[in-house]
Amino acid sequence: MIVAALLYLSSDKTAVVVQHATFVGALVAPVVVLVAARPSGPALVGSALGVLLLAVATVLVLMSPKEGPSRLMWWVVPTLNIMACGVFRVATAPGGALISSLVLVPALWLVLRFRGRGAGAAVLLVLLTITAPSLVVFETHLSLAGVARYLILPVTMVLLALAVLGILQRQDAAFAQSQESLVRQREAARELARSDDRLRGVLENLNVGVLVMDAQGNDVMTNHTQRELHSLVSPPDNSDPTESGHLVFRLDGSCMPPEERPAARANAGETFDNVMFRAGAPGPEQRVVSCTARFIADQEGSLDSILLMFRDVTIDTNLLRAQQDVIANVSHEMRTPLTSIVGFTDFAADSLEQLEDTQARSDVAEYLTVIRRGAEKLSALVEDLLLQQQAALGKLALNLEPLDLSNLAQECVEGFRPLAQERGITVDLDLNAMPNVPADCQRMIQVLDNLVGNALKYTQRGGRVLVAAETTAQGALLQVSDNGPGMTRDETSRIFTPFYRAVSARRSEKGGAGLGLALTKSIVDAHGGDIRVTSALGGGSTFSVLLPFAIPGKDHESGERTL
Ligand code: ADP
Repeated sequence: MIVAALLYLSSDKTAVVVQHATFVGALVAPVVVLVAARPSGPALVGSALGVLLLAVATVLVLMSPKEGPSRLMWWVVPTLNIMACGVFRVATAPGGALISSLVLVPALWLVLRFRGRGAGAAVLLVLLTITAPSLVVFETHLSLAGVARYLILPVTMVLLALAVLGILQRQDAAFAQSQESLVRQREAARELARSDDRLRGVLENLNVGVLVMDAQGNDVMTNHTQRELHSLVSPPDNSDPTESGHLVFRLDGSCMPPEERPAARANAGETFDNVMFRAGAPGPEQRVVSCTARFIADQEGSLDSILLMFRDVTIDTNLLRAQQDVIANVSHEMRTPLTSIVGFTDFAADSLEQLEDTQARSDVAEYLTVIRRGAEKLSALVEDLLLQQQAALGKLALNLEPLDLSNLAQECVEGFRPLAQERGITVDLDLNAMPNVPADCQRMIQVLDNLVGNALKYTQRGGRVLVAAETTAQGALLQVSDNGPGMTRDETSRIFTPFYRAVSARRSEKGGAGLGLALTKSIVDAHGGDIRVTSALGGGSTFSVLLPFAIPGKDHESGERTL
């Protein structure tokens, strides 16, 4: 019955009807048996009254709306049920004493529904409808023992109500807590959805194509720009081609093999910056795209996803190309007059003998030396510019031959000794014997001249420069270190860009066009090698060049190679 009472908490009408019917059945059955066993006038009248009370309660329950009885009905129905218990108790006396214990069921409904007020009402109702009538009817001589006997039921009810109220209070607290955490969870979910929307909005409006792949290489997120780019690389007659069917080309216009494409490289575990390619069919619609790949780690630090960012650099490339063309043309045009200047300076120097005035002869000789040095500097710059142009077009021709880098480094340093002495800088060597590497001797001399020349140029008097060479598992490693002024992190990230000069270099009297390192990098790249710099402001710099013992895609030890 207690279970029935608890179930009665359900507001659903069907549940209420079933539980009410159970209670009525449980109450009426023993009454019928008892009255039938000892029929009498008062018993019959009392039972009829009890049945009437139950009938009214049942009609009210049956008439209640589908969602269950109203609040008022929740008061009235249990009250009628308690009254019915009281009437049956009197009608079936003395055998029906235990019938009154069934009053606990509707009393519990009141407690469960109306908590403290329900408990108070239930106790009052029991006192009025069961305890008081019983005392009046059965205890003609009021004794303490008699009163105590009839108070057992209300006292039991009070204790039961207190226990149930305690349980309900704990349940309410737990419910309130769970509601609170539900509200917090909903708020967090709403905030998450809001920031997700914001992120999506930013992503969709970016003019950089974004593609996110999961660790298995499946596309999980793209943005508008990326989708446009994708439609550009899809052939017009095939909207869903395989990777090899995509219109992706190298900068020189040749088809880019699938394994060389950015997504494939990133999938193979590579991260990179600004890998350039052409997207779309050749023609005015084709775009030049620069791609950068990064890995995104999960909270445990394992690979979660791969991020690819595609930037349309067609305009920048065209501008750069136009700029480079101008530089290349001007440089080319300067070559011939510069050669003439050098040649005629030599002629003039040879003709100096004919000047009779010795003072004038020595003055002119000095002027000619200055002119020749200037012309030579200009020639070197023009040559660098033309070479840089070739490298930018991927047309840097290399004459590969087996080269002893250690030896070359020693020769280079010896060539710089007089300058080092003049500047008061110590140059140390730490050269180890190493296997030959396939390299272009002239270009490698250029690399060494640039690195050692810069170290001497930027290191202050009294400084030290160290040139080291050693063999590593990856190839021949050449390092040029100095304890000069060093550079900031931002500067070190930009020094390989053509024409870039650090602020201190620009402010100093040390001349330069900012081309040497860009060219050095192009030459090293063309050899399939790698150049890096570690530097700290005030803490010197170390340039490391790594050349592989075999150039990828090249079987022979020597030969022509154009990159
Ligand atoms: P530059 O003609 O200016 O020397 P480079 O391309 O050779 O051009 O070098 C680019 C810039 O890198 C320089 O202007 C200078 O700011 C910086 N740099 C190069 N080497 C060093 C070095 N050893 N120490 C400090 N700064 C250096």
